[in-house]
Amino acid sequence: MKRVIILGCTGSIGSTALKAIRENLASLQVVGLCAHSNGAQLASLAKEFGAEAICLTSGEHCNGEPARMYRGFSGLEQMLKDLDADIVLNAIAGFEGLRASLMSLRNGFDLALANKESVVCAGSYLFAVAREHKRRIIPVDSEHSAILELLKGRDRSSVESLILTASGGPFRTLERERFDSITVEQALAHPTWKMGKKISIDSATLANKALEVIEAAHLFGFDGEHIEVVIHPQSIVHSMIRTTDGAVYAQLGNPDMTLPIINALTDGSKNLVRRLDFSHLSLHFEAPDYQRFPLLGLAFSILERKGSAALAFNAADEVAVGAFLEGRISYPRLIEVVQKTVEHDWDAEIQDFQHILALDAQARDLARRLI
Ligand code: NDP
Ligand code: MG
Repeated sequence: MKRVIILGCTGSIGSTALKAIRENLASLQVVGLCAHSNGAQLASLAKEFGAEAICLTSGEHCNGEPARMYRGFSGLEQMLKDLDADIVLNAIAGFEGLRASLMSLRNGFDLALANKESVVCAGSYLFAVAREHKRRIIPVDSEHSAILELLKGRDRSSVESLILTASGGPFRTLERERFDSITVEQALAHPTWKMGKKISIDSATLANKALEVIEAAHLFGFDGEHIEVVIHPQSIVHSMIRTTDGAVYAQLGNPDMTLPIINALTDGSKNLVRRLDFSHLSLHFEAPDYQRFPLLGLAFSILERKGSAALAFNAADEVAVGAFLEGRISYPRLIEVVQKTVEHDWDAEIQDFQHILALDAQARDLARRLI
């Protein structure tokens, strides 16, 4: 049985992974668990799954401590050194997840990666670390998981472009004039997926798709000219590829993260998701509106610019989404803060993790001053 360490185990992705394991959908043994602040849930999950070790990165203690307990990011590093496992699922939300991705690769684990921020912020540096340690990075994001499947066994030169689908979020049809009055509750109400708060807001602004365009470029080695985005409100088509002969291949399924999560952790499990029923299926596609959702277009200019603009985009977005969730800025201001931060000079090529930390702090500082 494959031994797995789950980081971000109390979140949306972590919970979906554990639910699948609880329901015996995958042959996986949970050996380590990590959360940030939710000590009570972490302790209860450790007990239920018989984890050997747990870590709370906030540095707090959790009551009961049913397993070996580690604290803080230094504790996580030690836990990864001490545990014997085959793979790490990194489902930490946000930039902090990058530290955990690098630690996992350096400690010799394959990485099932939900934390797209790791790829967006570190880019080729992350893949260089994986190569150095001879470890694999397997995407968990549903679009990238679909593309990985579609590319299997295919000659790279026969693929013209990757086509990422996007639900369009809750404001797909809302007029731009009404964006001023958007509330946090409206922005959090995603039409098809149930996710954490940050990614839900990003799905409303299409910043999530922007991050995914950059993620796809790094994961699969395609430039922006060969990545397309199509709006597909039902979220049944998880993504597609266009081949040079003109055909388009797609992966379809009910919207459920169980499939991409477990496919990243195992080599083929059975009956992961409810079978698709074609008798009531009606699929709609449309082109993205880059005027109303400018953050999506920004991803393509970032890919052209290279340097560290992607990292700045992520940092500004985290700061602006945080401020929007706290009711400190409006939805249109959120967009402006990200645009204006990215406009600055981000030509510096990423050298190492310390450099990434410095650039991230710089971008956050700038975004905060714009709020
Ligand atoms: P959630 O907000 O639901 O969960 C976040 C998890 O990360 C929690 O376990 C939380 O712990 C932990 N965490 C938060 N901050 C830190 C930190 N500073 N250090 C360590 N752990 C931390 O997020 P999601 O599950 O929605 O998303 C997780 C990642 O997966 C994101 O990168 C997201 O973009 C990506 N993703 C999510 C999808 C989804 O369907 N939800 C789909 C595709 C990708 P605690 O609860 O203790 O605070
Ligand atoms: Mg996705």
